[in-house]
Amino acid sequence: MNARFSGPLWQAKSLSGRIFASVLAFVLAVLVAVTVVLTALFYLTYANDMEADLLDDTRELALALEAQPTPEDGIALLDDQVGGDFRCTLIDPQGEVLYDTDADEAAMENHADRPEVAEARADGEALSIRYSDTLRTDTVYAAVSLSDGAVVRLSESRSSLMAFLGNMIGPAAIIVLVAGVLVFALSRLLTRRIMKPIDALDFSRPLENEIYAEMDPLLFRIDEQQRLLKQQNVELAQAESMRRDFSSNVSHEMKTPLQVISGYAELMKNDMVDPADRRKFAGLIYEEAQAMRSLINDVLALSRLDETSLTEADSKPVDVGAQARRVLTRLESFAADQGVKMRVSGGPAFVMGNETMVEEMLYNLMENGIRYNHPGGEVSMAISVEAAGAGSAAGESVVVRVSDTGPGIPEEYREKIFERFFRVDKSRSKETGGTGLGLAIVKHTVLYHHGTIEVESEVGKGTTFIVRLAAVKPE
Ligand code: ADP
Repeated sequence: MNARFSGPLWQAKSLSGRIFASVLAFVLAVLVAVTVVLTALFYLTYANDMEADLLDDTRELALALEAQPTPEDGIALLDDQVGGDFRCTLIDPQGEVLYDTDADEAAMENHADRPEVAEARADGEALSIRYSDTLRTDTVYAAVSLSDGAVVRLSESRSSLMAFLGNMIGPAAIIVLVAGVLVFALSRLLTRRIMKPIDALDFSRPLENEIYAEMDPLLFRIDEQQRLLKQQNVELAQAESMRRDFSSNVSHEMKTPLQVISGYAELMKNDMVDPADRRKFAGLIYEEAQAMRSLINDVLALSRLDETSLTEADSKPVDVGAQARRVLTRLESFAADQGVKMRVSGGPAFVMGNETMVEEMLYNLMENGIRYNHPGGEVSMAISVEAAGAGSAAGESVVVRVSDTGPGIPEEYREKIFERFFRVDKSRSKETGGTGLGLAIVKHTVLYHHGTIEVESEVGKGTTFIVRLAAVKPE
């Protein structure tokens, strides 16, 4: 049989083995039941008929005996008429045996107490059946009483029901053997039929297969898995392409300041710069070097954010209000250069997180508010603690609103500004030392702290960035 098959057949690994075992078990059970029931029914009919016949014969014999003139004539008649498988006994009114076909009458005991004899005396006729263990046979006795008080009795042997059933074992075994062979062939055929559509399944399009309804859940699962895999592949490819874009963008952004730096440095090295212009050239080199430094800092900050996630260990209560005031100090000279006024209000307000990252986030937002503004304009950072909105976990949020009086952001860019290196106003960004990475870092930092960020803006009037982080009580 199958090489993979070991152990009992009903636990077989092969489908045909299992079908064979279950069909065979079913067929055997039906066969045994049918054989026993039919045999028993047949036996009962046969036994009834036999008993009725025997009683009829006895009655006839009784009538014939009554017609004889003398008892001797009667015995002669019995001698003459009874034979074959029948045994005949004639018992006188006292129970003495007058005649017996099989045994010596003189040696026989009194028969008055035999059930059929006693009953025939009382009721006229009687039937009784006795089982002989040694012969595994039943003996049926029919007795009829005569007018003078004597009783004539006929008896006949027949197989018992158990012996009868025993005789059926041979034929039944042959039927079982034939059935076994047929069931084996049938199970192979069935298996082949069942497996054919399964073998033909197209797993690249699981749901397009027309097959047993029982297989639908499996096909649905396969389809689900495949879609998940496809999606994961798409996501991986997207991440990969984003990484490639990012690297090429970074090198591109580096190239310009490097070219400027090496160009001016070369001129100065070759003494091709008028001493009066030296200061100006050195200043240009310094500015480009600063731009490169900012870019590198931002790239490093972003890759740190890409690689790590907030853990309990590096998370502690941070006072957003205090961080905002530090940012205010750091940006003082830049704001003065740009002619923009800064204001911070609110706090203390605590969140769980990384202090440096929170400070950098506030710095970027405030710096943008100064950078994209006009002389005489204003940036304000308002910090408040508010009940967390619907949908968020119970508790309070620290809300930071950074509003400026700048040009605003057109609707179509309000999502894009958070992408790496996306700039609405390229020249303004570059002129003021922007890297195009500030808002990408802000968004990443907000997500890193499980918060949210929104933009509200009116072109020509100004922009407000709203950051929400879960509030905690100070330690
Ligand atoms: P950048 O270093 O160029 O400022 P950011 O990622 O911080 O890069 O911002 C992306 C772009 O979004 C900016 O180039 C600018 O065009 C726009 N932007 C950011 N903040 C503001 C603001 N407060 N008002 C108007 N535009 C803004």
